[in-house]
Amino acid sequence: MENQIKIHFLGGSGTVTGSKFLVETPELNFLIDCGLFQGIKSLRELNWKDFPFDPNNIDLILLTHAHLDHTGYLPKLVKQGYKNPILGTLPTLGIAAVILKDSAKIQEEDAERANKEEYSKHHPALPLYTMSDAEKTIGLFKSIKLNEWHRISENIKYRYQTNGHILGSTFIEIEIFEKRFVFSGDIGREKDLLLEAPNKPEWADYLFLESTYGDRLHPEDDSDEIFIEAIKETVNKKGNLIIPSFAVERLQGIMYKLYLLIKKNKIPKIPIYIDSPMGNEVLGLFEGFSKWHKIEQDEFRKMLSYFNIITSYRDTWKTIDENRSKIVIAGSGMVTGGRVLTYLRYLIDKPETTVLLAGYQAEGTRGRQLENGASEVKIFGKYCPVKAKILKMESLSAHADQKELLDWMSEIKNIPEKIFLIHGEPTALDSLRVKIKDRYNYAVSIPAFNDVVTLQL
Ligand SMILES: [Zn+2]
Repeated sequence: MENQIKIHFLGGSGTVTGSKFLVETPELNFLIDCGLFQGIKSLRELNWKDFPFDPNNIDLILLTHAHLDHTGYLPKLVKQGYKNPILGTLPTLGIAAVILKDSAKIQEEDAERANKEEYSKHHPALPLYTMSDAEKTIGLFKSIKLNEWHRISENIKYRYQTNGHILGSTFIEIEIFEKRFVFSGDIGREKDLLLEAPNKPEWADYLFLESTYGDRLHPEDDSDEIFIEAIKETVNKKGNLIIPSFAVERLQGIMYKLYLLIKKNKIPKIPIYIDSPMGNEVLGLFEGFSKWHKIEQDEFRKMLSYFNIITSYRDTWKTIDENRSKIVIAGSGMVTGGRVLTYLRYLIDKPETTVLLAGYQAEGTRGRQLENGASEVKIFGKYCPVKAKILKMESLSAHADQKELLDWMSEIKNIPEKIFLIHGEPTALDSLRVKIKDRYNYAVSIPAFNDVVTLQL
């Protein structure tokens, strides 16, 4: 008898955010990732649509990793009635709890501000979800063991393996009626300062492959030189070096790089402040889950002793007022919110300030405006002239590039029936499609948002 499997591409399809893949089988229905759409308004509006499938008919959710674009819709799904387990590795669930609570707080604050300033079309404006929805979601978390097959129904089992993207991140293999489905998650770098190289799948009948950097090769790592140069210049100018940073992984990576430079006496001794409440929580998880990354616990603690961790907003002000040269690493990474705004509001109009953008800056963000040489940016309703020097560091990335993506598939022993390219912008998806054809000659398809693919197994 043939078994019909349906795959619903509900997000992360034709775009990089909102990852959600619903798999309907005769035995169980499950969801791989449940992310929030981010970026331009037309994408963000999708978060407000009702889920196109009855949440009560989903038996479980498997998470590849904790990032908001893979987990951020969970509280909305729970609000719509989802009550079953949400599975992931221990660090994934730990970081997801931090991220979801932060996201709920932002949703609540946005709604409150809209009501106060009355700019919303809706009266009263409601948050997408609340802290209580996030807490209910966290209550459904259930951790899994790595590298082992777990049977969930007569003919379905799954296995998690790490893939080097962020702490606890994985790819997921699911065997359904003896066919193997592989969901890559976001794949990390072959050489990473913090994480082991990604494991690779050895068999895939159907591969769902991320394509974020499907059209690009990362430049050689020149971050040490950029840090050394920027810090020396900051000391000479008696200024401040502000580094906007993501709280998860990027912050810890930058800290470790600076720590290594300090140890090697490559940079002058100036105070380094970490101002990221969410980053602090993730630092705690890094310290706790030391087997999941490459820095020994003692070394990690030693590293922490070189940084001033800011916990209260009052200390943010004290740090801004402080007259000596310093480095401040603060969220958010694309200058869309967070403590970094307070620093830039008062320091971006000073020529002795340097802003170092340490990662990808999406369209529509202040980070992108700065990268493009904007002469002013609006912060807290006020236009601030940009007199600071703006630097960019492109080599730090938690994502595999085109070559690394192609290499990741190199240990698959069979000829896959189909490769589905997901989690990429159209040019990245198409570029990777061509490369896979050239190197492997596998059948590749690029599903569009809301496509449903039916397979007969
Ligand atoms: Zn990710």
